[in-house]
Amino acid sequence: MTLVFDHITKQITQIDLQYQGRRQVIASYLFFDGNEAALIETGPALTVETLIASVRAAGVPIEILRHLFVTHIHLDHSGAAGVLVQRFPWMRVYVHPVGAPHLADPSRLVTSAARLYGDRMDTVWGLPLPVPSENLVVVNDGDEFQVAGTTLRAFDTPGHARHHHAYLDTTSGLLCTGDVGGVRMPNVCYVRPPTPPPELDLETWKASIARLRALKATGLCPTHFGVFRGDADWHWSDLEQRLIRWGEIIREEIQKGSDDQAMLRRMEQQIVAEFETISADLKAYDVAASYEHIVSGYARYWRKKLG
Ligand SMILES: [Zn+2]
Repeated sequence: MTLVFDHITKQITQIDLQYQGRRQVIASYLFFDGNEAALIETGPALTVETLIASVRAAGVPIEILRHLFVTHIHLDHSGAAGVLVQRFPWMRVYVHPVGAPHLADPSRLVTSAARLYGDRMDTVWGLPLPVPSENLVVVNDGDEFQVAGTTLRAFDTPGHARHHHAYLDTTSGLLCTGDVGGVRMPNVCYVRPPTPPPELDLETWKASIARLRALKATGLCPTHFGVFRGDADWHWSDLEQRLIRWGEIIREEIQKGSDDQAMLRRMEQQIVAEFETISADLKAYDVAASYEHIVSGYARYWRKKLG
């Protein structure tokens, strides 16, 4: 496989994990100052070999990769953490306090993913391994880390999940937004909110958007996928309006008593219609945030909220 990575600044390399052979689905961001390296996002266990090979190909000896930051514990962001630590025990894994127990013991993560993917878990995400507690670093809101020649600042940003941080690179002003900044494909002016169950929360997500927008980052780096410079305000607005509009659609359907299939069809129509004006590959968005996830996340949120 051809490895794909991009030097987005002097110190940051974006690695394309080529998830399931597809370009531009899951990114990992590598920070390196010549002495030490850090990653934001490990990607899933499935792509760990691509990750390791790409780090090396980017000119970083694996011995100096010491810090693994994950924006949150969903398997496409953190699934490789335990696999890496087992092989390279000097690595430390930085995670939200709500997520830390699930990296130490991923059995619940695996069970809940298995509910969706059944015995395809192996080929969909690969199996995460536990991160020993001595390798875990619990990260709180506002914490700063001097690693790989820069300072990374953590922002507790719930909404997509309760265990979510965005990381600001204080040197470049780039913000790694995980999933709270939505899904956006390179060169496309369209931001999709990934709204999976069970922790989707529209109020806290809106507050997280407001907080991150106020940082006036020089560019946004969503894990799905890439670096977007110079239009952060537009990006946050596009994400927020779609997050709310899709929420209204599913709320309407819930109040009408529609079943899951009907909601799925309605959402599909909506998304296809939105894409008619945009020349982009809808499939890339679907791999990163499927209709099923979007609909079931909203449905659960509203059923809980409306009672
Ligand atoms: Zn996620």
